[in-house]
Amino acid sequence: MDAFAYRERALYCEEVALADVAARAGTPCYVYSAGKVFENFRAYDQAFGDLPHTVCYSVKANGNLAVLKLLAEAGAGFDIVSGGELYRVRTAGGDPAKVVFSGVGKTAQEIDEALAAGIFVFNCESEPELALVDALAHRRGVKARVALRVNPDIDALTHAYISTGNLAHKFGVDIGEAEAVYERARSHENLLIEGVSCHIGSQLMDSQPVMAAVDRVLELIERLKSKGFEIRHADFGGGLGVAYKPAEVAPAIAMFITALKTRVEGRGLRVMIEPGRSIVAGAGVLLTRVLYRKKTGAKDFVVVDAAMNDLIRPALYGAYHEIVPVRQTDGGRVRVDVVGPVCETGDFLARDREMPDVLPGDTLAICAAGAYGFVQSSNYNSRPRAAEIMVEGGAWRVIRRRESYDDIVRGEL
Ligand SMILES: *Cc1c(COP(=O)(O)O)cnc(C)c1O
Repeated sequence: MDAFAYRERALYCEEVALADVAARAGTPCYVYSAGKVFENFRAYDQAFGDLPHTVCYSVKANGNLAVLKLLAEAGAGFDIVSGGELYRVRTAGGDPAKVVFSGVGKTAQEIDEALAAGIFVFNCESEPELALVDALAHRRGVKARVALRVNPDIDALTHAYISTGNLAHKFGVDIGEAEAVYERARSHENLLIEGVSCHIGSQLMDSQPVMAAVDRVLELIERLKSKGFEIRHADFGGGLGVAYKPAEVAPAIAMFITALKTRVEGRGLRVMIEPGRSIVAGAGVLLTRVLYRKKTGAKDFVVVDAAMNDLIRPALYGAYHEIVPVRQTDGGRVRVDVVGPVCETGDFLARDREMPDVLPGDTLAICAAGAYGFVQSSNYNSRPRAAEIMVEGGAWRVIRRRESYDDIVRGEL
């Protein structure tokens, strides 16, 4: 489905006119298409067919309870990276038995909470972490299922900040040392050593590096099995990219999973994957209103009411987001910087962007903002965080209220 499309020059999300949402909910606000989130999840789930699998949605991409609830009801598992994310999953009705816990710095408290909840597996990233999980499981009198996150030393060909599978990165255990680590882990009596995991990076526009990592992990699994380890599952992480620019083409979910499936079939393994961005990015936009137009000596600016505190991706990664008017007009095109009110030159949403001319009061949609958008927002400059809206067919509802000034100072003494 096309989650966002024009009808008679008005931009719609599913059956809802975004101008109405902006008028009633105010701006800035994030708007998500429930149908699109569901469709993307199903694309993963169905492509696996009858190969045993769990699609563990990566909560850090968009952790709103309504998004998690929708995915939990569709049968998703969840990939978490903190105790807070576990709390979100449980609050949304997610099944702890389908949760994988990733991350290089899990605290004792977080590990203990996950043991109490009975999560599926800890993706451990170091030997001291394996020892800590073992000790805490012993104290609780339970066995903890673990996988070692291995670093396959592959260049994911993506932005340096979100590339994770190279030996210079903090993540995982060098795949060359993995067998020795598994051997030493045998002494931990409260661990069920049943998996291998990897995740080489995010916004991957080429599936070839992932497939190279898959092959290396499968070779490792065969070696581990020959040494008597009962490896029952392989987790290949997330990372599939999405098209942010009109000219980009992202790998199709179904084709990606089919390629993965061919490699894994017949090995008696459950396959886990942890997609985040590819499920929610294209399902969301950030609506913002034009406050002012201004020209300086060198530049033409569109000043809007959303800023880097609402969507930091342009400032942090130099990311591109397509920006389109919610109501199309016959005006010409201009080359502008789209900037927010925050007191930083880095506060821009687009630079030197050719786009339709806009006037104060117009509403714009910043596209493909459903992933790593709201979750990375902050109160910088004491700006209340934006509202979040969920559209389902012809209906929409607020799934997170816009923050108030009271919310901003809550907890301060
Ligand atoms: C961030 C992350 C993901 C999700 O990555 P996407 O690019 O959003 O699919 C999956 N697994 C781990 C371990 C991660 O850190």
